[in-house]
Amino acid sequence: WRPGDEDERLRRRMSGPVKVRVPAKVNLHLGVGPLRPDGYHELNTVYQAISIHDELTARRGDTLTLTMEGEGAGELALDESNLVIRAARALAAHAGVPAHARLHLRKQIPLAGGLAGGSADGAAALVACDALWGTDLSRDELAAIAAGLGSDVPFLVYGGTALGTGHGETISPILARPVTWHWVVAIAEGGLSTPAAYRELDRLRAEQAAPPPLRNADALLAALRGRDPARLGRALGNDLQAAALSLRPALAETLKAGEAAGALAGLVSGSGPTCVFLATDGGHAERVAAELTASGLCRTVRTAYGPVPGARVG
Ligand code: ATP
Repeated sequence: WRPGDEDERLRRRMSGPVKVRVPAKVNLHLGVGPLRPDGYHELNTVYQAISIHDELTARRGDTLTLTMEGEGAGELALDESNLVIRAARALAAHAGVPAHARLHLRKQIPLAGGLAGGSADGAAALVACDALWGTDLSRDELAAIAAGLGSDVPFLVYGGTALGTGHGETISPILARPVTWHWVVAIAEGGLSTPAAYRELDRLRAEQAAPPPLRNADALLAALRGRDPARLGRALGNDLQAAALSLRPALAETLKAGEAAGALAGLVSGSGPTCVFLATDGGHAERVAAELTASGLCRTVRTAYGPVPGARVG
């Protein structure tokens, strides 16, 4: 063994740029339980991956570097705090390989939007570096590393529609007959901090006589099996919505405008401020999106569908 041998072996296995696409998520159901002693809230959530994607390209390099373009460029730190870098380092440490790569992120998922963009980028980095370095881990192994990076990261390794328990990191895929759901995604100006939304929820709940119990996702799961958008619309629910509306009262106008535009239902996505609206089909989603755009209440309005796969090469 000579210093450099290992690098040489890895270099031979690396086969040029690896491009990974990773979706955003929405929470169709987000039940938030009481604050646990470890500082997390117990969650019972149903995630769905939707067709708004970030793209991460990984190339050979002698160190670990990250560049980016798109949403949040110039704002988002590209240093050791970035989930892309943290994920690459976590994989390298797990696999015992040097964390050498040149990574470039093309971001479409808004920052701090409640769509888990940072978590998505972490999942993308795990999948991209695993391919670049030839470490060949299974999805389950990548998801186990992902759980150490953040609550939403394991889901974005898998994608699809899944139940999340624990603090969201324990994933059980929901195997329903294939059906595509159509969404309108209303992106607000600026972000909302996820920890701030949970703190606000705790504050609002402290004013109540007894904290509500953790809401299960049974009605939502039954509605997903029923394949009827109107029924799914009635079952959507997010315990963090009250906190997001308290921190950003203008979101109530956005929710009202989406419903007035004919959406089946609307809700705040995760910790907000993005709001998502369910439509009956793609054409309906386009019409609702056009009306919401005309309302002038949002920075950007997009249509999307789900479920889509998680972080994937190609
Ligand atoms: P969630 O829905 O999981 O609560 P979010 O969509 O509200 O997340 P993110 O965009 O995932 O918010 O990011 C929240 C914070 O994470 C950012 O403000 C930033 O400080 C940090 N972060 C670290 N890496 C990234 C990244 N690659 N992209 C976005 N944010 C990142």
